[in-house]
Amino acid sequence: MKMNYEEMLDRAYLLIPKEALNHERFVIPVAESMIQGKKTIMKGISGLIKDMRRDEKHFMKYLMKETGLPITKNGNQIIINGKLGAIQLNKIIENYFKDFVLCASCGKPDTKILTENGAKVMKCEACGAIAPVKNI
Ligand SMILES: [Zn+2]
Repeated sequence: MKMNYEEMLDRAYLLIPKEALNHERFVIPVAESMIQGKKTIMKGISGLIKDMRRDEKHFMKYLMKETGLPITKNGNQIIINGKLGAIQLNKIIENYFKDFVLCASCGKPDTKILTENGAKVMKCEACGAIAPVKNI
């Protein structure tokens, strides 16, 4: 059976999971932060963690490794025991999203971290891509 171009487009459209069509290009969230004395306070953490759909401990471990500073959580805030500028902090968040949240194939955040054959992989629910995940 021969299909014309438009029929082919329709078919291709049907094959794309609905989820993938609903999302606009994902914008990496920006954290609000302020320096208080020798500490940096990151605000609105619950919203950020929700956007990441990752374990907050995983993110905190990453933050600790990247900053080399002790970090504690206090309700909806993360307190970094050192001074960190907003640009620097948001760069770390951006890198976290790139490494652990966004799909390397389609760029969407609809991913899950799974363990397959003892190795951690990131599976995309939008396009089905599976990619290895770095250890922190
Ligand atoms: Zn994907």
